Amino acid sequence: MKKYKCKCGGIIEQGRCLVEDFLVSCMKCNKCEERLFTPDQTKELIRLRDANKVVEGERKIIKVGSSIAALLPKKINNYGIEAGLIDTVRILSKNSLEIQFKKEIVK
Ligand SMILES: [Zn+2]
Repeated sequence: MKKYKCKCGGIIEQGRCLVEDFLVSCMKCNKCEERLFTPDQTKELIRLRDANKVVEGERKIIKVGSSIAALLPKKINNYGIEAGLIDTVRILSKNSLEIQFKKEIVK
């Protein structure tokens, strides 16, 4: 991956940025707050925004045996999400979880 120099003297490298509450690939300076987006990274944000329209909303948590499960909308199947695909679950913030899948669900 090509590295670029920032006007502050830092190095701009590929990383991950929080944009509109989406975690996306970006180019960021290792010294200042400078953030840049390649055309592909911009497309990634647009695809995530579109995919989120399908998922975002109030969902129910149900009891399944000794576990609990979050009910997701059926339309999420279009993104290849199915039973058994989850890789890891972790706390993301004071009131959110991150559910990470083994494969990319938004391409
Ligand atoms: Zn900089």
